[in-house]
Amino acid sequence: MTRTTPDSCPGVLRLHQAADGPLARVRVPGGRLEPAQLHTLAEAAHDLGDGSIELTSRGNVQLRRVRDAAELTTRLEAAGLLPSHTHERVRNIVASPLAGRLGGRAEVHVLVSALDTGLRAAPRLAELPGRVLFTLDDGRGDVSGLGGDIGVHAVEADAFTVLLAGRDTGIRVSANEAVDVMIAAAHGFLDLSSGQWRLHEIEDGAERVAEALGLTPGTDRLELGATHDIPIGWLTQDNGLVSLGAGVRLGSLPANTAEFIAAIERPVFLTPWRSLVIADLEEWPAEQVVRVLAPMGLIFDAESPWLLVSACAGQPGCAKSITDVRADVDAAVDSGRVRIPRQNTEAETISGGNATVDSRVETHEPAERALPHHVPVATINSVVAADQVVVSGRQHWSGCDRRCGRPRGAVTDVVATPHGYRVG
Ligand code: SF4
Repeated sequence: MTRTTPDSCPGVLRLHQAADGPLARVRVPGGRLEPAQLHTLAEAAHDLGDGSIELTSRGNVQLRRVRDAAELTTRLEAAGLLPSHTHERVRNIVASPLAGRLGGRAEVHVLVSALDTGLRAAPRLAELPGRVLFTLDDGRGDVSGLGGDIGVHAVEADAFTVLLAGRDTGIRVSANEAVDVMIAAAHGFLDLSSGQWRLHEIEDGAERVAEALGLTPGTDRLELGATHDIPIGWLTQDNGLVSLGAGVRLGSLPANTAEFIAAIERPVFLTPWRSLVIADLEEWPAEQVVRVLAPMGLIFDAESPWLLVSACAGQPGCAKSITDVRADVDAAVDSGRVRIPRQNTEAETISGGNATVDSRVETHEPAERALPHHVPVATINSVVAADQVVVSGRQHWSGCDRRCGRPRGAVTDVVATPHGYRVG
């Protein structure tokens, strides 16, 4: 596939003109925010934006309705959130949020910093499309299935397999080599690109980049699938401290809630599931944090229906949207129409319909990581009024057929049409 236009991913220096006003996207490599950085974002959202921080599916953040782009740039630069003007949009780096703290085979956050530095040090890599995604998985398999372009996945504490276009190449490297190989792969992408935004869009792109790396692949290949293991609730770290995983309703974090989180003065990791992890807490402070933040709307209950739902911007943020999708999701969750799937249930009878539907999707996941069965209750491909939509399991609501922000893996689509929502 050859693109005829450059990618239009927004940044801080190049705002997207959304229907509700200018939108800025701030890259947060590895999702890691220091408390002062989160405080800066919260203040900016309050003073210059619409009062919320949007979390993205790449662990970045967005501010909507930005009123003063120059002032935003100044504040983000001072906070270390805009370390490069030339490379700001290419710093799309997702890493296992719990790496180095709980489970996993390797600490990848140090590699995130090195990769970010390496990208910014190479002038040519400023030409990478803003869509290119780097992934660093500590071996638990939480981010390698996100469909990145260039990545590494720990197979041992000091051994990583190289991923290209979301697939295992069989090339194994040490931790010391991992960043250099990813940087070389990024150059390889540019060598082959004739305007494509993603590596998989280039014919045999992954194979050709792997060959250009000049490394001999082994015969073993990992099967990688999308997972939905959102870290939620009380997570005891390997060192005895506590991480708190918190869900954020539709990924929209109110600025005042973000201020409270920043005041805890602990590192925060934004996850690609639009949630966050507050790390390195002692037990007693962790209990107090839950007591304060749960009433403010953060989700510490892994059984919350909010964790099953994602949505695009919808109205008023997107001019293409047929309706206010997020308001409809709010109503669906509040009225109990977002259903928790029953374990081991093959399918449920469709309410108001005339057929039984099992919408499970092939995920190519190893059996031990298989997602719970995921079954819609509404008729597949039926169109129903917003207040009649009842769906069980993971679901993504969209204001039009483009389905922006749809997560990978087994997800039921709920898509607005002029006559209601189409489910299926
Ligand atoms: S899915 Fe459609 S309505 Fe929703 S944000 Fe994308 S273009 Fe807009």
